[in-house]
Amino acid sequence: MPLSVLQQLQDEMLCLPGAGCSLMEMSHRDQAFIDILHDAENSIRSLLNINDDYAVLFLQGGATLQFSMIPANLIRGTDKVAQYLVTGAWGKKAVGEAKKEGNVEVIYDAKESNYNHVPKAADYQVRDDAGYLYYCSNETIQGVQFQEEPESPAGVPLICDASSDFLSRPLDIRKYGMLYACAQKNAGPAGVTVVIVRRDLIDAGQPDLPGYLNYKNHAEADSEWNTPPTFAIYALGKVARWLVDDIGGLDAMAKLNQEKSQLLYDVVDAHGDFYQGHAVDCCRSKMNVTFNLPSDELLKKFVSEASAHNLASLKGHRSVGGIRASVYNAMPLEGAQTLAKFMTDFAKKNG
Ligand SMILES: *Cc1c(COP(=O)(O)O)cnc(C)c1O
Repeated sequence: MPLSVLQQLQDEMLCLPGAGCSLMEMSHRDQAFIDILHDAENSIRSLLNINDDYAVLFLQGGATLQFSMIPANLIRGTDKVAQYLVTGAWGKKAVGEAKKEGNVEVIYDAKESNYNHVPKAADYQVRDDAGYLYYCSNETIQGVQFQEEPESPAGVPLICDASSDFLSRPLDIRKYGMLYACAQKNAGPAGVTVVIVRRDLIDAGQPDLPGYLNYKNHAEADSEWNTPPTFAIYALGKVARWLVDDIGGLDAMAKLNQEKSQLLYDVVDAHGDFYQGHAVDCCRSKMNVTFNLPSDELLKKFVSEASAHNLASLKGHRSVGGIRASVYNAMPLEGAQTLAKFMTDFAKKNG
């Protein structure tokens, strides 16, 4: 979270300006909250240039519930086949859930290379009648990121899990049928998931779906089909405002993210016999920089010495090990500079 946003939340915690009570004491039907919800939506629309062909929904259940909601709305009860590109742990999980809802085909799986890259368009074939084409733009655990969208034939909606790079760079929403992101990686606190979905896809859900799982209910009720996570939406709205007002939009944010991640990759490359980068060059994530060290001992030493320098949360995900340095939007340039310097010193001392 950006520090200035945390400070605003602290200032307004006891009493929302003009409201006479805390946001947490207010009904979600109160006009003051409805204004907050619309403001968050409008900031996201303006950052990503989203027109009215798309609904912007604020849902619960994390990115994980979308793994099920997407196929439940779009292929359940039909003979359509959903096609998936799997480039890491989250894509794999999405496939597992989708299989419970209908016909699923994995048309690319980077497993054999231990998920160190993303495919090029020539590497997979999407059927013209696919229910949708699904991918994850940034695999958070492995640190591989698509630099441009996969290609899907006209009529096949492209669906993206953008949980860990949402609002980190500009994108052309018109290429997507749907793009979604849980907030807690790059856009706010845990508890809310932003779903941007083209309106013609909203109506696909069958009436026998559990109500919460049907996009149509949420779209018709303006994300108030049941009580939405009010505080998380409020904080997310503040982060979006910060991106507009303080950062200056997504072009500026992307430039900063490029700079931060490049500082770290430069150190990895300069000490290639010491640090082993996980992702191949073309597919390196600008959010999660993943690399390993020559031994488990050095890995432990790296983590503990880094922690003494106030460099936290560097241990890689338990499923892959190594180091993962996440330099999400809110990480200031100085944070990446401090880590880069630490890495250089550590390699010189221990290499
Ligand atoms: C964290 C993450 C998820 C899971 O999010 P939850 O909100 O915990 O369900 C899914 N996809 C990606 C890319 C993630 O980074």
